[in-house]
Amino acid sequence: MKQNITVIKRQGSSFKDKLFLPAIYDGAKITFKHLFNNVTDINAVDTLEYPEEQPTDITSSYRGLHRLTHRADDSIACVACFMCATACPANCIFIEATEREDGKDEKMPEIFMIDTLECVFCGYCVEACPCDAIRMDTGIFSLTGNSREDFVLGKEQLLSYKGAFGEEFSHARN
Ligand code: SF4
Ligand code: SF4
Repeated sequence: MKQNITVIKRQGSSFKDKLFLPAIYDGAKITFKHLFNNVTDINAVDTLEYPEEQPTDITSSYRGLHRLTHRADDSIACVACFMCATACPANCIFIEATEREDGKDEKMPEIFMIDTLECVFCGYCVEACPCDAIRMDTGIFSLTGNSREDFVLGKEQLLSYKGAFGEEFSHARN
């Protein structure tokens, strides 16, 4: 049986290609063009001297460090439903629920921890939350510490962060 095979000619087999020098010249030309532009016009450089120089174009769609939101009476908005922990692909949210005694909801978290060293900052927890109780709008993008524990954020720490873009309270829980 005749097979319908198309033979593709291998590229790069000419004498010029085998010399490699023209390709090296083309690459070097581009590199030196950018070098010249960057040296003569510092504003053309698209990098920052981070962390001394911080980005100024952070918008509310940036995903920074997490926070837990409050209700209008300043109590915690989270109802310990575990949706965020279930959605988390890194399995880095740990919650222990307790009964809520102010009558606003059935439950609240006794413990709420996020291991930011495991977190991949995907934002799934924020999307999964039915209560607008967890957000990543702190505007904090660098976290430093001396031990692993410094990177595990607890409930009080998460509640202490403010929203960097003016939306302070949970939209879903009042
Ligand atoms: S941002 Fe993603 S990885 Fe991090 S805690 Fe939320 S769901 Fe998990
Ligand atoms: S932060 Fe939201 S999704 Fe996570 S447990 Fe609290 S209410 Fe549920």
